Amino acid sequence: MIKDNITRILASLPQGVRLVAVSKFRPLEELAQAYDCGQRLFAESRPLEFEKKALALPKDIEWHFIGHLQTNKLRNVLPYVHMIHSVDSIHLLEAIEKWCADARHSGIRPGKVKVLLEVHIGAEETKQGFTPGQVLSLPWDEMGAAYPHIEICGLMGMATHSSDEALIDKDFALIEDLFDSVAQAHPSLEHFSQLSIGMSDDWTVAVRHGATMVRIGSAIFCPQ
Ligand SMILES: *Cc1c(COP(=O)(O)O)cnc(C)c1O
Repeated sequence: MIKDNITRILASLPQGVRLVAVSKFRPLEELAQAYDCGQRLFAESRPLEFEKKALALPKDIEWHFIGHLQTNKLRNVLPYVHMIHSVDSIHLLEAIEKWCADARHSGIRPGKVKVLLEVHIGAEETKQGFTPGQVLSLPWDEMGAAYPHIEICGLMGMATHSSDEALIDKDFALIEDLFDSVAQAHPSLEHFSQLSIGMSDDWTVAVRHGATMVRIGSAIFCPQ
C-alpha cells in the first residue's frame, strides 16, 4: 500500500520536484517500508520523535524537520537534520546560529544547517511564520555574514485548509511571487532555490506554483 502510494505520487511529480515523505506519528516499520521502496527523504514535526527515528533508522536517510521548533529542543534536532523547513522567527534563526557556533557542538554538527523561512500565507490565525512583508524587508544581503552556520535555501508555506481550490491557488500564488521577488532582488543569494509548498490534498496546485518540494504524509501512509 505504501509502495503503491509512493509509486503513484512519484509518477505524477514533475522532474525536479522532490517528494518529502512526512512520517510524523507513523511507526518505524512504516518508514522502513517506504525506505525499502527507495524513499530517502523523510520529515518529522516533533523534536523527540524526530530524534528517536533518526537514531533508529539507516544513516543514508535525509531528515527534514517541518514542525514548530523551540530553542530548548535544538539539541534533539540539529545533530541529525539536513534541512529545517519551519524557521518562523529571527529568534529561532539566532538560536540555531548560536548552537552551531558553540564549540561544544562543532563535532556533532559539522556542516551548515539548511533552512527555509516559514511564511504565513493561509487564512488561519494560528499558523506561525513570517508575514510576506517581513520576508521582503529582511536584510537579505547581510544574512550570510550574520548567520555563517546557516544556509537560507528558500521559503515554506501552508495554504489555507480548504476544499476551495481558488483559495489554495491564491495562497500559493502569493508565496510563489514572494519567492521570485526575493530571488530577483538579491541575485547574490546563492542558495535561495527551494520552495516547499503542497501537502496531500493540495500538492498538484503547489506544483503549478513552482514547488521544488512537496511534503506528503497521509497520501503515503494512510490507506487510500
Ligand atoms: C503534517 C504535515 C504535512 C503533511 O500533511 P498531509 O496532509 O498528511 O500530507 C506537511 N507539512 C507540515 C508542516 C505538516 O505538519
